[in-house]
Amino acid sequence: MKILVTGGAGYIGSHTCVELLQAGHEVVIADNFYNADRAVPSRIEKVAGKPVTAVYPIDVADKAALNQVFDEHQIDGVIHFAGLKAVGESVQIPLRYYRNNLDTTLTLLEVMEAHGCNKFVFSSSATVYGPNNKAPFTEDMPTSATNPYGWTKVMIEQILRDYCAAKPAFSAVLLRYFNPIGAHPSGLLGDDPNGIPNNLMPYVARVAAGQLPKLTVFGDDYDTPDGTCLRDYLHVVDLAKGHLSALEYANEHTGAEAFNLGTGNGTSVLELIHAFMKENHIDVPYVIGPRRDGDLPGFWANADKANRVLGWKAELDVNDMCRDAWTFIQTPKD
Ligand code: NAD
Ligand code: UDP
Repeated sequence: MKILVTGGAGYIGSHTCVELLQAGHEVVIADNFYNADRAVPSRIEKVAGKPVTAVYPIDVADKAALNQVFDEHQIDGVIHFAGLKAVGESVQIPLRYYRNNLDTTLTLLEVMEAHGCNKFVFSSSATVYGPNNKAPFTEDMPTSATNPYGWTKVMIEQILRDYCAAKPAFSAVLLRYFNPIGAHPSGLLGDDPNGIPNNLMPYVARVAAGQLPKLTVFGDDYDTPDGTCLRDYLHVVDLAKGHLSALEYANEHTGAEAFNLGTGNGTSVLELIHAFMKENHIDVPYVIGPRRDGDLPGFWANADKANRVLGWKAELDVNDMCRDAWTFIQTPKD
């Protein structure tokens, strides 16, 4: 199939492009490179050993530009990663988040409709489970959010459900990612945020590499076994593979369907730091600090539905994630 990957130069998108190419699909990338390095498409080709069909450096909310992509390529399906994703920033500049995340999705759906393209895989998030459900999360739980970023995911899921109800031939797979970390084992693709990382693993890796002095653990007084928060970390390569399973599902089904992509296990902040140190034989200096506003004590997936219906299961463990994140930060890129 020829797949349009929006946000294909980003962290999860780039890994998914590699898996798509290796599985024999054709890949067209649309990314405005707001949060990605221009060199990523050529790294994707190097890792996959195959060419990307085309790269469009466009804003996906630009309808004329997106129409041109669909005019120039017979797109069989779309995987929609393009979006802004920083929770804290979304509280500071909510309109930017609503505008970007909703506009890209609505424009895509309109252009897909005009071109008769009916298969859509969406990057949703465990954040749609909100603060009130009890882990492990299952797909039938009510959704809500605690910040504008999370609301964009809740809203887009609803838009896709409404659209599927109106267009019986359309298929939308809503993939609710838990905490993707790690990198491609080649060391060429990974999570490389600009500035000081917000997320745990890129922060740990930069401390280990001596680029930051020490890590602050945000709170050790939660009601969890070691007092630090639990998250369901999953390897980004496992997550990327989940998109291939979702595409196959979209090929055979219509309607909107949500799936959790996680391992089903909770790992604490301290467990992750110690796994990183042990796996990579390197010290990660840390101090215990106050809680971070808005953090939930613990959540992880019930991933049975993805296993049962998509035939997808995470195969890599926390040690693999730590090893590959460390390889990534040490590998010269070009
Ligand atoms: P990322 O920032 O690395 O990738 C997103 C890509 O989209 C970037 O390359 C960026 O340049 C591009 N982009 C943003 N707005 C665009 C626009 N208007 N037009 C064209 N390109 C645009 O993020 P990621 O971690 O790879 O996340 C991908 C998707 O998965 C996002 O939708 C994110 O919300 C979702 N998600 C991520 C996580 C996570 O922990 N990384 C968890 C749950 C869900
Ligand atoms: N965390 C931390 N120090 C950091 C960054 C994160 O202790 O510098 C903790 C954070 O409080 C949370 C966990 O690590 O409990 C995962 O945080 P991340 O931002 O990676 O994911 P999210 O909270 O969005 O699930």
